[in-house]
Amino acid sequence: MELADAVLAGDRLALARLLTRIENGDSEGQRGLAGLYPQGGRAHRIGITGPPGTGKSTLVNELAKVLRAGGESVAVVAVDPTSPFSGGAILGDRIRMRDLSGDPGVFIRSMASRGALGGLSRATGEVVEALDGAGFQTILIETVGAGQAEVDIARAAQTTVVVEAPGLGDDIQAIKAGILEIADVLVVNKADLPGAEASLSALRTTLEFAYSAPPASDSAPGIWTPPLLSTVALRGEGVPELAAAIHRHRSYLQESGEGQRRDQRRSQGELEAALRDLLIAQLKQQLPDGHFESALDEVLARRQTPRQAAERLLDPSPA
Ligand code: GDP
Repeated sequence: MELADAVLAGDRLALARLLTRIENGDSEGQRGLAGLYPQGGRAHRIGITGPPGTGKSTLVNELAKVLRAGGESVAVVAVDPTSPFSGGAILGDRIRMRDLSGDPGVFIRSMASRGALGGLSRATGEVVEALDGAGFQTILIETVGAGQAEVDIARAAQTTVVVEAPGLGDDIQAIKAGILEIADVLVVNKADLPGAEASLSALRTTLEFAYSAPPASDSAPGIWTPPLLSTVALRGEGVPELAAAIHRHRSYLQESGEGQRRDQRRSQGELEAALRDLLIAQLKQQLPDGHFESALDEVLARRQTPRQAAERLLDPSPA
């Protein structure tokens, strides 16, 4: 049987195997993904991101439990660009497994960068597509950190939850700078710790500044103002409210047309990335031996800009 058919028949081992193939970037992975792709497009993809140590794993675990209790099937994709391990070998996963294992409505997958971060972003996107095609209703994509790589990975999501925690001082600044722009829901976790109020009010001020409107106003139709929530993931407090905010955002995406716009943007990005990969591979095959390497030398020696070297490779005739 084809891997995709086995996955569609509910074979979890086949799903795990397919995701490994996809991560490795081999042709069987691509074939399996192609088999699942027509079934996809129905899952709600939720990105959970924020600095390390804010309690994202704990929160994702609790969120998965709440969503499961509501009857949704849930897949968790945990992306750790700093870890060389993959395929479920990460310690946090074993802790997670203890809580959620045995439930056929939950599937957990770890992704790690074994190469370039760009590769991780592609593999994550494809793994999410495969899980969507496999029929999971909700896909939680957990990423560590708050840099550009995480922002890119978050693009695979329709709803992005940014997690903060008290006592990370400078990280609030980092959040203000970039990641706030991608936040659909903001969470201050570890609300049991001192300083939680200060974090909340710092973020509230930032939100008010960014949106020039008080955060809690749901009144304006067609405009989404990110709600600011506090949770104690360790005790599951505030997690049902987080699930409700995520569901409200899903309804907003559907009713406003923004969901369709985001899906289109994502698909366009994926198509362009695939074209880029294929064109580069094709070109490298056609180039005479050593041409790419000498173009690289020109760039390294700063005799040509990358753009000039690329133009020369595409049109080698002297100007
Ligand atoms: P991640 O790196 O963001 O995934 O964070 P983890 O989920 O691994 O949590 C980091 C640490 O914070 C762990 O020791 C958790 O037990 C702890 N933690 C998670 N949530 C809470 C919380 O709500 N309150 C407190 N006090 N600690 C928490």
